[in-house]
Amino acid sequence: MKTDFQTLKELHEYYAVNNRCGLRKIATQPVYEIAPPTSGIVFIGEAPGKNEDLQGKPFVGAAGKFLNELLQSIGFSREEVYVSNTVKYRPPENREPTDEEKNSCRVWLNAELLFIKPKILIPLGRHAFERFVPGAKISASHGQPFEHPSGIPVFAMYHPAVALYNPNLRDVLKEDFKKLKDYLDNGGELNKNEIPESKSNVFSKSTKKDIDDILNM
Ligand code: URA
Repeated sequence: MKTDFQTLKELHEYYAVNNRCGLRKIATQPVYEIAPPTSGIVFIGEAPGKNEDLQGKPFVGAAGKFLNELLQSIGFSREEVYVSNTVKYRPPENREPTDEEKNSCRVWLNAELLFIKPKILIPLGRHAFERFVPGAKISASHGQPFEHPSGIPVFAMYHPAVALYNPNLRDVLKEDFKKLKDYLDNGGELNKNEIPESKSNVFSKSTKKDIDDILNM
């Protein structure tokens, strides 16, 4: 398995060939960004939709437009952050990705994160959040930072697409972005959640599995 990538583009091109995701056969192309974030901020969505599939870039449709608005509201441009997905290919009819699809793209996302070394991870919605904070519910966790055994804080956020069909959640997302800005402005020390002993065991196992995944590919 190759690990010595010089650029993100090289990394993505390698995993676009070396992955076992079943969606690869039916999608137009894999979806990814090739510029590391100058801010160290990494967002992780669910899976590409139709526009993303056609353009090969994440969050370029309606949800992406709202994400850009939210970013601007806290003083960031889209170019300063990095956006990825738990699954790199569009599921048909925009259905939710299956566990198998998420697992087959897991090593790719891990490699991406190891390359970027984010300062903060912001999972957008349930699929990405559960991956980093197993056992926690997004409905009870959004707008809050969580510790992760990697040392990288995880800030839970609803997926911007929910605001497209539930206008009340639009305001919740705007509020949560303000909380994210406070968190970033305070050096990441605000509202830090302590992980109970039982959960931290779960996290350690999940991190170990991530590393094993990468080594065993
Ligand atoms: N929704 C996602 O989760 N990812 C995208 O890239 C676009 C929409």
